[in-house]
Amino acid sequence: MAQRTCPYCKERIRKGAVVCRYCRRDLPDPPSPSVRWPYLVLSVMGVLAAVAVLSLGTGYYQERLRWTEEEGGWEEPPGT
Ligand SMILES: [Zn+2]
Repeated sequence: MAQRTCPYCKERIRKGAVVCRYCRRDLPDPPSPSVRWPYLVLSVMGVLAAVAVLSLGTGYYQERLRWTEEEGGWEEPPGT
């Protein structure tokens, strides 16, 4: 059943056709699940990138905090 019906002339045409061979009109793209693939991959990659940036930022912040604490430990304020 690799056929569908032209929405303009109602003739039976091939499923992957972009132009009707009877009325020569442009046909709307047939719904294909492969079109959603890039969007899914892009969204997953976006989430991963966001998580990576977040973890990198948090790691940098913690490293900086630790470094600041160590730095502060070297110069103990007098009077403790
Ligand atoms: Zn047609």
